Amino acid sequence: MSATAIAEIKAAIRDIPNFPKPPVVFKDITPVLQQPKLFRAAVDVFVDRHSAQKPNAIVGIDARGFIFAGAVAYQLGVAFVPVRKKGKLPYKTIEESYDLEYGRETLSMHIDAVKPGERVVIVDDVLATGGTAATAAKLVEQLGGKVAECDFLIELKFLAGAAKLAKYQVFSAVSY
Ligand code: AMP
Repeated sequence: MSATAIAEIKAAIRDIPNFPKPPVVFKDITPVLQQPKLFRAAVDVFVDRHSAQKPNAIVGIDARGFIFAGAVAYQLGVAFVPVRKKGKLPYKTIEESYDLEYGRETLSMHIDAVKPGERVVIVDDVLATGGTAATAAKLVEQLGGKVAECDFLIELKFLAGAAKLAKYQVFSAVSY
């Protein structure tokens, strides 16, 4: 992926101060999605990393992770697995809870979404404190899967989320 494409993606990401509440500065990716060239570049940055050694599945995290993960899975020709917030998946699930800055969140995955020994790549839009991706990785491992890499469009380095993912390979296209 060219440095220009990455710079253009970074320039398109919009900061929304105090959303959904203070003091969060929300990284709004919708301007990237609105520009087909940038949306394609954002998907390709992940596809290029895994086209030589394809994983069995791309695991997308609810909800903005789905936008990229589905496209990456389609382009690689591999399975797509959704990790969703509790109560959204229709079949039997496994669940894992984790602490947020204010409160707790529970993520779930279908019990047959990953088979023992399968290699998966986890994809989300933003790596912030790392709790979400670390919990998705735990769900994959509960089913006997192996996390080959965790990929993010954006990493907020000042929140040190990569520390929670220290045992995994982590990649982010753009960082702050
Ligand atoms: P965390 O578990 O703290 O790493 O948070 C990551 C999850 O929350 C991802 O699914 C993101 O979509 C979302 N998120 C956290 N912080 C932000 C932010 N500043 N801007 C946009 N999304 C965020």
